[in-house]
Amino acid sequence: METHKAHCLIFPCAAQGHINPMLQFAKRLQHQGTKITLATTKFFFKTLQEVSGSIAVETISDGYDEGANEVPLDTYNAVFQKVGSENLTELILKLKDLGCPVDCIVYDALISWALDVAKSLGLRAAAFFTQSCAVYKIYYHVYAGLLKLPLEESKVEIPGLPPLLASDLPSFFSNYGSYPPIFQMVAYDQMKNIHEADWIFCNTFYKLEEEVIDCTSKILPIKTIGPTIPSMYLDKRLQDDKQYGLSRFMPMTNDCMPWLNERSTSSVVYVSFGSLAELDAEQMEEVAQGLRTSNYYFLWVVRESESNKLPKDFVKETSDRGLFISWCPQLEVLAHKSIGCFITHCGWNSTLEALSLGVPMIGMPQWIDQSTNAKFVVDIWKTGIKAQPDETGIVRRDVIHECISVVMEGEKGQEIRKNADNWKDLARKAFDDGGSSDKNIKDFVSKLIQS
Ligand code: UDP
Repeated sequence: METHKAHCLIFPCAAQGHINPMLQFAKRLQHQGTKITLATTKFFFKTLQEVSGSIAVETISDGYDEGANEVPLDTYNAVFQKVGSENLTELILKLKDLGCPVDCIVYDALISWALDVAKSLGLRAAAFFTQSCAVYKIYYHVYAGLLKLPLEESKVEIPGLPPLLASDLPSFFSNYGSYPPIFQMVAYDQMKNIHEADWIFCNTFYKLEEEVIDCTSKILPIKTIGPTIPSMYLDKRLQDDKQYGLSRFMPMTNDCMPWLNERSTSSVVYVSFGSLAELDAEQMEEVAQGLRTSNYYFLWVVRESESNKLPKDFVKETSDRGLFISWCPQLEVLAHKSIGCFITHCGWNSTLEALSLGVPMIGMPQWIDQSTNAKFVVDIWKTGIKAQPDETGIVRRDVIHECISVVMEGEKGQEIRKNADNWKDLARKAFDDGGSSDKNIKDFVSKLIQS
């Protein structure tokens, strides 16, 4: 008897930090025998520099096929919802006509109207949260009217979470009046129909956020499926398709990996602020000078659009110790034995990747959920320290220098390293055969096949 092969349509937001985890999740589903089609916008697809791997990609219009640079976010969202809903519906009907009917849409929770499209076509839908469970609990708390804004107290108590300061909350909450469209998306739009989703997946693993997951599960039937990292990085015995597949930036693998191979164990400071954060020139100067005086080897990812902010002649003057690249294969870098610590903006993917690969962190959160992630890195998981900004919001060079010394040398650094190794082990267990995340993924696939 021929078994039915379930078909999932994966629909991430058009941003690197959303594509990466959802693509890796899609690969896991594919390994379990599920057919996968990934949908993205026509414009985003055009901007990709790397497209590889065995996942079928389809494009739909968001109403701005030539880009939406100058368009205000609320206008963009309204047009995307209208045009995107029609186009997504057409795509699903086309796939059905071609003999590949879709069984389930796995949609980025931020594109909440994709759930309405699924329901209107009689399909099942799985929401995918690309941030931590703690951050979703905070959003939900606001959505449910349990956390009033603007904040009246400097301390916030949310069930399942440690006491948080206002400055530990996602940036839209402390200054939420300054960018309402994003606040609307995270704390209202993505929550308003979430109870209609057939599954809710979160890119985390059970042990990492045990308390908040247990607490959130009472309100939302959340399933952990992380870390969404290719298996070979978690377990060296495994082979995997390590290609990222869809990337807006071309990794300079041939430049950085041979350079790292020449460095001794835990001797390099890796610096990256992800795909979106824009540091101002003053902050770049402070990072540069902190790295200069700390005397360690460093690998610094400076995206092309940011490179003009580096201090004049800095690259030349530090060429004996520093390597600058515009994008790297970050998982390969973090898994490399030469990396001693990671100066990071604490984007959720970077945080989870560093935790899962046992790399100590120095947090320099910039916006969105990064302050919350940094709080957990420092106080709950104890795998890093935060580089504290001064009253003007800039992290000064002596603070950066001191943080590097603390993490790379001394007793506290050893403690952090030990904790990081422990989380690495727990991440692998979650993903191993029979681990908490592995079970949730297999359960999802078997339910899709059954019905
Ligand atoms: N990344 C990468 N190469 C780099 C810098 C980042 O491959 O040089 C990847 C990183 O591994 C992560 C993603 O880009 O998967 C960044 O996501 P994150 O949530 O950390 O930050 P965002 O870019 O969304 O701010």
